[in-house]
Amino acid sequence: MYILLMGPPGAGKGTQAAKLVEKFGIPHISTGDMFRAAVQEGTPLGKQAKECMDAGQLVPDSVTIGIVKERLVKDDCRQGFILDGFPRTTAQAGALETTLSEIGITLDRAINITVPDDELVRRMTGRRICKGCGATWHIEFHPPASHGVCDKCGGALYQRDDDTEATVVKRLSVYAAQTNPLIDYYQDRGLYTEIDGRKEIDEVFDGIVGSLRSAGA
Ligand code: ADP
Ligand code: ADP
Ligand code: ZN
Repeated sequence: MYILLMGPPGAGKGTQAAKLVEKFGIPHISTGDMFRAAVQEGTPLGKQAKECMDAGQLVPDSVTIGIVKERLVKDDCRQGFILDGFPRTTAQAGALETTLSEIGITLDRAINITVPDDELVRRMTGRRICKGCGATWHIEFHPPASHGVCDKCGGALYQRDDDTEATVVKRLSVYAAQTNPLIDYYQDRGLYTEIDGRKEIDEVFDGIVGSLRSAGA
């Protein structure tokens, strides 16, 4: 099962990807997570990525395409994958198509989770991440049982540097300009499905699983 999870920042891609991993046992490939790991490690890639991320801009295509290609050729991707947050430009989509055809993989679905901008701002500014296991919480919409502590592992929660209101607004405009054209791209290839992301987390998940089943994935 080869799935793309699309959708604006804050739509719930990471949340849904974690549930898909649990259900289907296929790898979750998130370019945002890969960049944040590189920032943590203090590598040259991390330094470059941090500048772009903090400005709410995309990391250059050449860099992003390179790290995704390296990841897709690994053995665990032969059983399927969930690509989250990639592609985000038409150049990335073209590079993905080429790479997948080289390794003999065809995509099953491109699922776009849609949520209105005002709700996205609330989701991102209230988002909290676990330092221990990376789980995603929300102070209001998906709070852990105990304030500031992860239910899954007891780790401390933190706020992403790019989840401030000003950066969030910038990211939404970058998304509209650079990533929205991918809707047509995947519609043209018959792979596109839209899911209403305003619903509860579990209802959104049921919608995604239903669309994968109807696609025969
Ligand atoms: P969100 O989950 O809010 O959509 P991500 O974690 O996917 O955010 O991405 C965070 C940041 O990482 C982006 O704002 C961008 O700077 C960078 N990034 C992630 N994926 C890509 C990509 N495919 N191309 C370019 N930059 C990316
Ligand atoms: P993305 O990866 O698309 O940026 P996340 O999965 O990180 O999005 O979700 C953004 C924030 O919204 C998180 O704080 C998450 O807990 C919360 N969230 C995710 N899905 C929903 C939902 N269906 N309803 C309300 N809040 C949600
Ligand atoms: Zn945790």
